[in-house]
Amino acid sequence: MLPDQTPAVVLKVTDHGESDKIVTFCSPIRGKLTGIAKGAKRSKKRFVNKLEIFSYLNITYVEKGRSTLVRIDQAELIASFLSLRKNFKRYSAASLICEQTLNWIRENDRDEELFKLLIWALEGLEGGQSIVGTVILFHIRMFTILGFQPQISGCIRCGRTDHDGAPYRFNMEKSDLVCRKCRSDAMGHGTLMSINTVKLLQKAQKLPLHKLGRLKFSTGPAKEAIALLKGYGHHLLQREIHSWDAFERGGVG
Ligand SMILES: [Zn+2]
Repeated sequence: MLPDQTPAVVLKVTDHGESDKIVTFCSPIRGKLTGIAKGAKRSKKRFVNKLEIFSYLNITYVEKGRSTLVRIDQAELIASFLSLRKNFKRYSAASLICEQTLNWIRENDRDEELFKLLIWALEGLEGGQSIVGTVILFHIRMFTILGFQPQISGCIRCGRTDHDGAPYRFNMEKSDLVCRKCRSDAMGHGTLMSINTVKLLQKAQKLPLHKLGRLKFSTGPAKEAIALLKGYGHHLLQREIHSWDAFERGGVG
């Protein structure tokens, strides 16, 4: 078979036997792509410092018959995001973003938007963009791209998001928002959010990617948005995401 090429970001690396590595990538044309890099643990030339988590590469790979595992022949470095490995808070944010990408992408599922979002987040974190802001914005946009956009355009009953100061409640099961006026005790489950948080998240769903970094989350809205996005992700996946713990140990805000 002739080799193919694609840009790709390394999401996960594991050792395989004495000398090989198994690497899982996010790629724009193939979605999740997993490959074996023969001799990667020994080879000093071909793969050195490239097959590391967060690395943005241009890889050359060969399909192996019916196997979903490809053979990685070459990797050319586009960006290593080295600084993300030297700062705990930035590292834990980038790890969370990569773990979430790994959870949600599928094999042979073209998704250029998700790939662009991942690059946006890694470049933002390396470029000094707000850590908590990047994590929030990545998640809200990821859910939108995947078709799980939280319905936060207004209260599901009265349609309004202009009751100043009144907390809104986001219902995970229904993925909708209810204001305090319309809420009854029977609708008591969910995450509380202030009007400021709701409005910031509404903007985050709409802005073009290159303007997204302009949105600033102060501590209050940041904590509310994180609680919403973490809870909503758990609800959708029906399991815990371990990287949230390390990220939250670094402090939100
Ligand atoms: Zn209402």
